[in-house]
Amino acid sequence: MDYFLKIVTVGNMFTNCGIVGNPETMECVVIDPGTEAGKIKKEVADSGYTPVAILLTHGHFDHIGAVNELRKEWDVEVFAGAKEVELLGDSVLNVSSQAWGACTVAPDKTLSDGDVIEAGGMFITIFEVPGHTVGSICFLFPLYGIVFSGDTLFADSIGRTDLPTGEPKVLIESLVEKLFALPDDIQVFPGHGPSTNIGYERRNNPYLKELLRDSVQYIDESDIKKRKFPFFRKKKTD
Ligand SMILES: [Zn+2]
Repeated sequence: MDYFLKIVTVGNMFTNCGIVGNPETMECVVIDPGTEAGKIKKEVADSGYTPVAILLTHGHFDHIGAVNELRKEWDVEVFAGAKEVELLGDSVLNVSSQAWGACTVAPDKTLSDGDVIEAGGMFITIFEVPGHTVGSICFLFPLYGIVFSGDTLFADSIGRTDLPTGEPKVLIESLVEKLFALPDDIQVFPGHGPSTNIGYERRNNPYLKELLRDSVQYIDESDIKKRKFPFFRKKKTD
């Protein structure tokens, strides 16, 4: 299905800000406008698409820095995970006061696991993926076959868990139960770095392999293909 996609890399953390547009409505959503509001504004204007919503994968400073300026300029609503509201509103928890300067965001709408929103005639499914932060979410565009994974999953890497509300075990659960439950050919657009796809990361992501080694002895590939839960079974001892 035809769609518009532009990744704009912003700031010294090289945050990927995603612009996804529907050619039928000529409307777009903007995901994680981390900083450089002017650059994002220009990219959206040049695209010819009208922004209708700002979507946040999580509340870290490098993903929210341009939100307040752009929401005013565009008069659009800001969507974020329901469990991320506290972090978004706390400049210590969202690390902004330790980095680029205190910044907080109050979302207009909050999202929970399994929610489906419609924006610009595009359907977007929400997955809660706690671990990098407690209220991290991913945005899946099922008709386009793309997912925005925030700082949960990267090409050949995974999100850090040493910042406030981070939890390594919970991150692994989110990857296994949510992102890796998606079909192999779903294209992944992470919050930083190059894009990848689900199948490649499920098979090759080195961090995941390492972290799973302690707790899981046996991975049933056929279960993954059938998308059954849980993916992991303890090795039969008899
Ligand atoms: Zn982050």
